[in-house]
Amino acid sequence: MTIHLIATGGTIAMAHDEKAGGAVLSLRGVDFLGQIISQAGPGLPQVSVEEYGPLPSSHFTVEHLWGLRERVAEILKNPTVEGIVLTHGTDTLEETAYLLDLTVPGDKPIVLTGAMRLASDPGYEGIANLLAAVRVAASREARGLGALVVMNDEIHAARDVTKTHSQSTDTFQSPVWGPLGRVEAERVVIARRMERDIIPCPRLEPRVYLFKLAVGMDTELLRYAVRLGARGIVIEAFGGGRVPPWWLKAIQEALAQGVTVMITTRCVSGPIYDRYSYTGAYHDLQRLGCLFADGLNGPKARLRLMALLGMR
Ligand code: ASP
Repeated sequence: MTIHLIATGGTIAMAHDEKAGGAVLSLRGVDFLGQIISQAGPGLPQVSVEEYGPLPSSHFTVEHLWGLRERVAEILKNPTVEGIVLTHGTDTLEETAYLLDLTVPGDKPIVLTGAMRLASDPGYEGIANLLAAVRVAASREARGLGALVVMNDEIHAARDVTKTHSQSTDTFQSPVWGPLGRVEAERVVIARRMERDIIPCPRLEPRVYLFKLAVGMDTELLRYAVRLGARGIVIEAFGGGRVPPWWLKAIQEALAQGVTVMITTRCVSGPIYDRYSYTGAYHDLQRLGCLFADGLNGPKARLRLMALLGMR
């Protein structure tokens, strides 16, 4: 059995460099391989390695992300590969994880990990996270769970997990539902399982824009996006799915132009639903024909809409 490691960049692969005046890429895929082989106890599966990029995750484009998705899907067709681990920058890790979860079919685990500390920092947690990720990818327990994020010995579902703190090593959390399980030394413990939801799209529609509502915001940027040729708009609305009354007209005009509008919440989590009768509440958005992205944050709802529109 082989676990295939794809090194895509991020802090996990970086160390401080005096001359550059900051952190630079310093660990390549083969370095990761050397470190896990030298630090693992017994039972480490065979690991093969390649690099994709590598890039800071804030430098990813939609094409780069889709190319990574295609590579993962191709590798998983190899019958000797039982699972994939990706090392990844933490900034957009949850988006890559969600895209892989949503679009790569099959039971083989896809596990993403990263680090918040540099490889040159005391207490660098990258190799511990990577080893835990390899153990999860190789485990029978993780099969059928789709893409997972393993950090800090916790196993999170791609759909639920989000980066909650800009500096803490405990940054990845699944608000409301919590992690699916934990890695306890060499043991992989799954406490809860969830159903996957696959959109078998052949591409992503790139012209999908994300708006976050704030009190009193006007609709100028929304209208501008439609004039620019947006095919989809995602709105992080208030609470259970509410917009200011003056947004309804702009949303209606966007829909009339063939733009798909998806609503999610600007809250940390929760479904889209309410029982109000006032203007701009859930019932108005439902009547207009908006789609709703229950339980997905704005960036993940955007990927979902990009995938849905990519089916056309
Ligand atoms: N700069 C990093 C990135 O590529 C941040 C990290 O990995 O923690 O996202």
